[in-house]
Amino acid sequence: MVLVLHPPPGRDGMTTVFKFGGASIKDADAIRHLGDLLRQLGTRPDVVVVSAMGKTTNALEALLAAARGSDEDDYRQQLAALRSDHLATVEALFSSHNNAVGERVEALLNDLDACHRQYRDDERARHYDQTIGYGELLSTTIVSAWFNEIGLVCDWHDACRLIITDANHQAANVDWAETSQRLQALASGRMVITQGFIGASTDGVSTTLGREGSDFSAAIIAHCLDADEVVIWKDVPGLFNADPRRFDNARQLMKLSYDEAIELAWLGAKVIHPKTLAPLRKRHIPLKVRSFETPDAPPSVISQHGDDDPTPACILAEEQVLLKIQPRDFSFMDEVRQHEVFGRLVDAGLHANLIDGGAMRLSLCLDAHPARLEPFVEQLTADYVLTRHDDLTLLSVRHPTQALLASLSADREILAERRNTQTAQRLFRTEECPETWHIPE
Ligand code: ADP
Ligand code: ASP
Ligand code: MG
Repeated sequence: MVLVLHPPPGRDGMTTVFKFGGASIKDADAIRHLGDLLRQLGTRPDVVVVSAMGKTTNALEALLAAARGSDEDDYRQQLAALRSDHLATVEALFSSHNNAVGERVEALLNDLDACHRQYRDDERARHYDQTIGYGELLSTTIVSAWFNEIGLVCDWHDACRLIITDANHQAANVDWAETSQRLQALASGRMVITQGFIGASTDGVSTTLGREGSDFSAAIIAHCLDADEVVIWKDVPGLFNADPRRFDNARQLMKLSYDEAIELAWLGAKVIHPKTLAPLRKRHIPLKVRSFETPDAPPSVISQHGDDDPTPACILAEEQVLLKIQPRDFSFMDEVRQHEVFGRLVDAGLHANLIDGGAMRLSLCLDAHPARLEPFVEQLTADYVLTRHDDLTLLSVRHPTQALLASLSADREILAERRNTQTAQRLFRTEECPETWHIPE
């Protein structure tokens, strides 16, 4: 059966998916603000996808490390902090007669504790996926209860029963046919609220889609329901030509093509998860990026009708590592060698943000992701001489000019670079980079 749409006043027949990230629900005031925003909008989304509150996912990753370590007190303290943070939000939102929400939160945290005990000796990626999604389970429990409390009637759904994936833990691949079937069978006249970031394999084992994956969850749902639009609500008014928190003259891009947005996200523009655009592009579903802080401001709209502006866009990726890889036997870094190194890179779950090569050298710029990077480095050292630079910043520029690159680079040493007709990338030492950047006019 097809999803029965909530009839939104004035926009009959539109299917809309909203996504709210951690900052929009970081505490009780933020959740109240969100409820007010939805009530004032006039139109209701059919599905609301919600991330974990604030920085909960980081806290859950730290809890995972503690659970796999030997300091039981540290683990207990971290779990207690998660409990008190979430219960403080519940207490601030609900009067004492509504302690059912507090009980559900307590029950989820007890389940989380049990999960850590069950999986602590299991493979890390599997343990990760059984526990990290609790941030979203907790947040959606609280937010859906608040919506119902204020008359925004909604049904809570477990994304593990909706988003079906393979068992590739921490970067699960969507089973589109099964997920479409599950979502379309979700007959409801009411607003659906579900978790971003998580899913499950067909045998019911929890999986995650990758950090920051809630944007992607919203796109998956929109694709499977053939929705009319997706709105991701951010703490910035839209998609800018640079991170407005790092560039003092960044400006909003109002109309963008899927292709251009994919390039920006792929280069690391953190505002949209890179996997978000493809499922929308396939069905021509526009993506709006709007601000929950200033909802009246015009959004950025990403669609097939982009008005791509050839003015430059800058993307910063920090905490980068440069690895120069040379065969120990002085052989060429030919296709066979490259194939071998990239095979190991894929197995390690790493992505090269910049690739540069020479006759006997391959240089890779990678995220400093210790759990993935260190085993990769250790494995390579048997066959290759490695030269490594840490604490680097990668600047990527779309539509660069030579003058602009020279000005942005100042007199800093460039540790690696790459350029094609559309994009230039340069790698610098972070300590030599400014805190606030400026795009030369
Ligand atoms: P959410 O938790 O809702 O997914 P994110 O923190 O992931 O939100 O994304 C919003 C942040 O992305 C903004 O606070 C902003 O600092 C950052 N950002 C990075 N690049 C851009 C850009 N090009 N345009 C807008 N925001 C950007
Ligand atoms: N909560 C997850 C994270 O912080 C997913 C998301 O927010 O998009 O990575
Ligand atoms: Mg995000």
